[in-house]
Amino acid sequence: MTTLTPAPQRVLLDRLDERVSVFRVKDEVDAFAIRTDRFVALIDTLSTPDLCRAVLSELEPDLRDRPLIVVNTHGDWDHVWGNAAVEDRATIIAHASAVDRLRSPQAAAVLQEKAAAEERFNTVRIVEPTVTFTDTLTLHGGDLTLRLIHTPGHTDDHTAVWIPELRLCIAGDAAEDPIPEVTSAHPEDLRRLRLSLRRLQALRPLTVLPSHGETTEPQVLERNLDYFSLIEDRVRALSPGNADPFEAPGLTFTECVGGTRPLAEGLQAFYSMCHRKALLATLDQESADRLLQTSSGLADPTDAATA
Ligand SMILES: [Zn+2]
Repeated sequence: MTTLTPAPQRVLLDRLDERVSVFRVKDEVDAFAIRTDRFVALIDTLSTPDLCRAVLSELEPDLRDRPLIVVNTHGDWDHVWGNAAVEDRATIIAHASAVDRLRSPQAAAVLQEKAAAEERFNTVRIVEPTVTFTDTLTLHGGDLTLRLIHTPGHTDDHTAVWIPELRLCIAGDAAEDPIPEVTSAHPEDLRRLRLSLRRLQALRPLTVLPSHGETTEPQVLERNLDYFSLIEDRVRALSPGNADPFEAPGLTFTECVGGTRPLAEGLQAFYSMCHRKALLATLDQESADRLLQTSSGLADPTDAATA
């Protein structure tokens, strides 16, 4: 049992509007707070109620005269397990399918597994959103507008946040540095993820804040799309019946995945898994099914909850 207790750090970023705050749990996830004239919106609650409470105390000066609204970008553990810290004081907004995901046996299994491995998760209780939507939902803050956009492909319930006045996109896990994780090895999930990335790119943001990746560059959307195009082209060029694309020249992790930051060892393993899953999703269904039967772990739904 590890006693490691990370703390969120407020990250100061050049040229970011002073109404936008970034809170980082190093090598785990970022959460974001937007102060508007009418409310403070907290985008994600981190991975424990304690971490979320630490963020709330940082926001206390802004919360003295404004209500708190919480948005969950999606139901993965690192984004919603802090919800218990806000359930008695805030509306929690998420896509409708987040409720199903949080009620699923897989969600309970991930919690059980992580609580057994790390003491800090013992205080986690799964708390569902109180307001849900299906395609888009707009929050009118007065000076700033938050448009919540359903952007599936990383998960079915994924939501990104667009603030047109700042041309700022909070991408959640739809975009990521070096690469985003597709829901499953099913081609349809990859198609949805690429569509979501294109939908965000079409907004022409000046700033993009993914939950993982420590970047603000709008080019992250293009880089992620280019990665999926690259592996598609290279998979197509494979000779028919080629046994395993993971081993094929041109398709290894180092040849395809070029991030902008050095990755810690655990993260390297995680993104290798993401790359394998993306390759499988790029193959035709028949080959993917065949390879899935022989490659372990990739069809496990708890994988999707890794980051
Ligand atoms: Zn995540």
